[in-house]
Amino acid sequence: MENLSVSSVRRTQLRVVTRTAIQPVPLNLVLFGPPGAGKGTQADLFAEHHRIPKISTGDMLRKAVHEGSRIGTIVRDTMNNGGLVGDDLMISLVAERLDQPDTAKGFVLDGFPRTIPQAAALDALLAERGGVTVIALTVHVDEVIRRLAGRGRADDDAYVIKERLAVYSRDTEPVLEYYRRRGAVTVLDGNRPLEDVAESIERALMKKQNSRT
Ligand code: AMP
Repeated sequence: MENLSVSSVRRTQLRVVTRTAIQPVPLNLVLFGPPGAGKGTQADLFAEHHRIPKISTGDMLRKAVHEGSRIGTIVRDTMNNGGLVGDDLMISLVAERLDQPDTAKGFVLDGFPRTIPQAAALDALLAERGGVTVIALTVHVDEVIRRLAGRGRADDDAYVIKERLAVYSRDTEPVLEYYRRRGAVTVLDGNRPLEDVAESIERALMKKQNSRT
């Protein structure tokens, strides 16, 4: 520092300040909730509105199954039975996806994390990238069943729906508590019309972003 003139120190400070001021906080959003809560639809709307990618682990896996890739053959039966794919595989899939440059300004995660180890891995991945904001959508169980039964997906028959809901309460609901303990979650009523839910998500996120700056 000894050779730096006062003005060059000022210039450096100014550069730092300017860089900080124009660097927006990335919109790293996790949409959390039971199957049928409307996460996919809301993630689509949010991603489109903010021009950031939607990362749906369910979509990624369905694509792998459809293409008959190595991962697809590993996960197919688990998915069809309503079980959870192993944490190691899921974490490496998401880590690789978050490495893509299109996620730099933010992303919406739909369907991940679904277990505590996945949530802990996500925290570690994003520690240097602004962390994550979690919005949880609640929805009545009869509404979930009504929505899932109307979707017509391979894993949406009555038996598999039941299994997916059981897996949700056993493995995934504890993730909400994990985030709650960190004060990092906003819970919103997902039973309302989708436009109303979308508006509450925007409002909740803006509130979070403002409280950070
Ligand atoms: P989704 O479209 O999010 O409902 O996911 C469909 C299925 O993909 C789930 O029922 C699981 O079998 C599997 N899956 C998706 N995301 C995950 C995840 N984060 N962890 C484990 N399994 C997952």
